[in-house]
Amino acid sequence: TANKGSTDKKIPLVRFNDIGGQDSAKKELMEALDFIKDINGIKYMGIRAIKGILLSGPPGTGKTMLAKAAARYTDSVFKATSGSEFIEMYAGLGAKRVRNLFKDAKQSAKKTGKDSAIIFIDEIDILGSKRGQVTSHLEYDQTLNQLLVEMDGLSVDDDVQLLVMAATNRIDILDQALLRPGRFDRIVQVDLPAKKGRLSILELHTANKPLDDGVDLEKIAQDTFRFSGAHLENLANEAAIFALREGSEKIKQRHFMEAIDKVIMGEKLDRRPAK
Ligand code: ATP
Repeated sequence: TANKGSTDKKIPLVRFNDIGGQDSAKKELMEALDFIKDINGIKYMGIRAIKGILLSGPPGTGKTMLAKAAARYTDSVFKATSGSEFIEMYAGLGAKRVRNLFKDAKQSAKKTGKDSAIIFIDEIDILGSKRGQVTSHLEYDQTLNQLLVEMDGLSVDDDVQLLVMAATNRIDILDQALLRPGRFDRIVQVDLPAKKGRLSILELHTANKPLDDGVDLEKIAQDTFRFSGAHLENLANEAAIFALREGSEKIKQRHFMEAIDKVIMGEKLDRRPAK
């Protein structure tokens, strides 16, 4: 979900345990974060800082949650924005916004006594698509250039360690300059969950709901091929609404089945097997 307006939450409440499935994404991300936390080791070894991590995958799979959990895990200030916030601006304004974003992140960290800040840019493809292409024009180029300048300027010797996390579901259209070493050189794939992942997401989103003993979450996970985490959250909510409307005290299996149909129709989900 795109964040409307950049947020200045100190430390977000999402933990890695609140994210269902995505085991390999979590593991890869945590490994990178553990590395970043060892600032003395990094300096001692003369290692180049990890400046950017790109989360790549379809909508609603938990990329924003992962970024928030990363901030919590590293005790970092979290600043979220979206590529869409840089569009429709006068020349130079996008670039200025990027500069301010980095400045703000550092200042917030200092103000709250944190050593690190994470900047999260959702929909990075909007400002970072291949330069000189139809989707891109001069103003975006300036904005993208400024982002690259800011990232190139980050150093392990800075008093506040800054990490830029970005999310995209269009990695194919990203300007290669963004993916070069020292920029978004770590790519974490965040795919649609398989059955096991869907089951743990369903467990998380039904934990606060009165489920009938006959509810078979495993079967629901089986029947929700191609559902994202966001779809599954919606499904659990719709099932609860069906139960409430009916005056049922518990949410029953058939409420989930009805909700599956509703989500599929509402989203016009394409459930054909992947090529
Ligand atoms: P977008 O690409 O649309 O920005 P996203 O990948 O950033 O999507 P999130 O914003 O992290 O997705 O997820 C949206 C909502 O879907 C979450 O607030 C949560 O309720 C649910 N959700 C998505 N993925 C998961 C997951 N793996 N575990 C638990 N809940 C999830």
